[in-house]
Amino acid sequence: MMMRNYKELDKEYIVNVYNRLDVVLDHGKGAVLYDTDGKEYIDLSAGIAVNVFGVSDDAWQAAVIAQLQKLSHISNVFYTEPQVLLAEKLCQRTGMKKVFFSNSGAESNECAIKAARKYSHDKYGDGRHTIITLKNSFHGRTMATLSATGQDSLHQDFGPFVDGFVYADADDFNSVKALAEKNDVCAVMMELVQGEGGVRALDRDFVQATAAYAKAHDILLIIDEVQTGNGRTGALYAYMNYGIQPDIVSTAKALGGGLPLGATLFAASCAATLDSHSHGSTFGGNPICAAGACNIIDRIDDALLQDVKAKGAYIKEELARCKHVQFVSGMGMMIGVKTDKELTQLVSNCIDEGLLVLTANDLLRLLPPLNIPMDVLKRAVEKLKKIIDA
Ligand SMILES: *Cc1c(COP(=O)(O)O)cnc(C)c1O
Repeated sequence: MMMRNYKELDKEYIVNVYNRLDVVLDHGKGAVLYDTDGKEYIDLSAGIAVNVFGVSDDAWQAAVIAQLQKLSHISNVFYTEPQVLLAEKLCQRTGMKKVFFSNSGAESNECAIKAARKYSHDKYGDGRHTIITLKNSFHGRTMATLSATGQDSLHQDFGPFVDGFVYADADDFNSVKALAEKNDVCAVMMELVQGEGGVRALDRDFVQATAAYAKAHDILLIIDEVQTGNGRTGALYAYMNYGIQPDIVSTAKALGGGLPLGATLFAASCAATLDSHSHGSTFGGNPICAAGACNIIDRIDDALLQDVKAKGAYIKEELARCKHVQFVSGMGMMIGVKTDKELTQLVSNCIDEGLLVLTANDLLRLLPPLNIPMDVLKRAVEKLKKIIDA
């Protein structure tokens, strides 16, 4: 039978927003994937920080299949066991008090934005609705989360945007303070390691000063952990590395382990804000996704997190030795690599050599599965060093 040309069919039938890399992936196990020609790749992308335990992970698959055979979907007007168990686990592991489930990162941030505005509206009435976010941030692709995103390059073509977002300079507390004094602010929202914006870990003093200022002024602190969450930075959530207590944490990507699931976690300060009929989702907290997520969260334990730190340090140390590497950034296994090489060519050379990598602005971005075996990781890093310095 003639092999169909999936690349051409994709271009013909799918909206062309992704600039796809030149690989048709077919199957895999853990951190090793194969394309439709049987060529092998080591995966340093994990579906953009989604596949924490790689692809086709046995334990996650078993949890998902068991739930699939019991009950695949039912309306949120009924109780389901996996959703309750997952919420309990998330609260117990974080000290947060309540969870709202959705299907994606953008939706988890939408929920955070709506809740912050309602919190302020309930308490102070109209007008106190501005949310401070950071320049170079990324919070999603819906109208509100795009409005929250502090990147001019994304603020074209789609106006008018949702009102009430102002953008502070990352790592500049005076910039946050000046905006807070000039506007009626209900929340500050930020990623602690900016992902799409260039794998930049925020400064601890800046984050702590911002958190303290927010608390003193009854401004809610929203931490976007869509990419940093669920073990990626060497803590269950990145805020745990910063000695702060957010009011709202949004997360998604790795939480579902490969199925779509978002969650917005609320601290006691605003756990009662979203009340009857104020928000909802048809699929949010779907039993299959939630059953898989229970398995994922249970396995992100101290041993794994120690491992993430050690592997992250190893990757950074090795790559910093390359003569064409200018700097290495990030936290845990969320790593940016700035080289003096042409980025598109570098990525394409990696693909040729059987390595799946990502970019973030002008950096190479590495997000390996957290459980990638050390020998596989070593092979990948050696390859990458050779490619960068070739
Ligand atoms: C990926 C991402 C989002 C958007 O998540 P989707 O699931 O694509 O909607 C939001 N915030 C951050 C920090 C992200 O990395």
